[in-house]
Amino acid sequence: MTAPAAGAALRAPAAPPVALDVARIRAEFPILGQQVHGRPLAYLDSAATSQKPVAVLEALDRYYRQDNANVHRGVHALSERATRAYEGARVEVARFLHADPHEIVFVRGATEAVNLVAQTFGRQRVGPGDEILVTTLEHHSDIVPWQLLAAERGARVVPVPVDDAGDLDLGALEALLGPRVRLLAVTQVSNALGTVTPLDRIVALARARGVPVLVDGAQGAPHLGFDAAASGADFYVLSGHKLYGPTGIGVLWARREHLEAMPPWQGGGDMIRSVTFEGTTWNDVPYRFEAGTPHIAGAIGLAAALRWIAGVGAGAIAAHERALLGRLLAALREVPGLRIVGEPRERAGVVSFLLGDVHPHDLATIVDREGVAIRAGHHCAQPLMRRYGLAATARASVAAYNDDADVAALVRALHVAREVFA
Ligand code: PLP
Repeated sequence: MTAPAAGAALRAPAAPPVALDVARIRAEFPILGQQVHGRPLAYLDSAATSQKPVAVLEALDRYYRQDNANVHRGVHALSERATRAYEGARVEVARFLHADPHEIVFVRGATEAVNLVAQTFGRQRVGPGDEILVTTLEHHSDIVPWQLLAAERGARVVPVPVDDAGDLDLGALEALLGPRVRLLAVTQVSNALGTVTPLDRIVALARARGVPVLVDGAQGAPHLGFDAAASGADFYVLSGHKLYGPTGIGVLWARREHLEAMPPWQGGGDMIRSVTFEGTTWNDVPYRFEAGTPHIAGAIGLAAALRWIAGVGAGAIAAHERALLGRLLAALREVPGLRIVGEPRERAGVVSFLLGDVHPHDLATIVDREGVAIRAGHHCAQPLMRRYGLAATARASVAAYNDDADVAALVRALHVAREVFA
């Protein structure tokens, strides 16, 4: 099968999005109604994990109350209902990613999806002396699986550099795409800096050299969506819990011809066609890659999250987040002594910053006492931190349910921190 040409990897909204009614959205997230340390919660840590709307909570509750049964193997009514809902979830994910349901593998999360590709496709393709290009923007979960593979196969992981602003150096990428490169791993959005990578150009460069591309969509999917069919990419991974869905469920999208050619990963029930002590044969894709009882409720919850996103409007959510992020950046720039880390050309979801010489962990602790949840640390992106000579940053991240009150609460809390550390 010929691969589609690289096209618009990011899904453009079909029509100008209607403004989001954020108050109504917030009402759908019961967790946001609480007080923390006596202050209204301002949750600005959705890049770590998003909160879940009632639609998702109810889908999980309904499944366990009414339909709970194992899938695929039962003939009784509950098992048939559970199977229908689980396979329906696969169709929902395929719709979200503009893909074929046969190309959707349910896994635990983005991390497991990358490991699956490394240990199947990677083991088949990578040999001694080969190279795996991994960008400096990557999360550890899109670095370490490739290091494990490289160590096993006698290959090398080669970093693709970023510039001072936090954008990928495409000239360097082009130069690095030599004859020994067997795969390029690139994130759609950096979880540490918010950089949106120019996937269309990156995929085009790689494809011109015949190099398959794995896109880490853990941060991109919630803000930008992904058009697998148009992307020209080979693999896309996402985590349900960052996408308003449950923890413990994620997705690997892979082009069908890759899945068909990949050996099984884990062995067990459901991934086989027949088992004898003389030899075992494999189930069709994608089931070949889903050994054992899957996270049925997780898949159903993820589908509910995707329906929720579609109901609100992915374009409306993206426009709201973009505008709010702009106001957040502007407000942060007004805080004396605050430095934004990374000024990428295009940004989604995330802003990293430092306040004077206050350690980000101390900052996050003070801010938490004011009811504001932000993250501090290396964000599982130590090579990227090292690139900027940092051990850690503070990070605020936004989702559909954040509003100007959250931004104001963060800025107020940062002023409190300035006084504490003055
Ligand atoms: N990739 C990126 C860019 C991430 O931000 C994360 C999580 O923070 C992951 C991968 C790993 O996701 P998970 O821990 O859900 O597998």
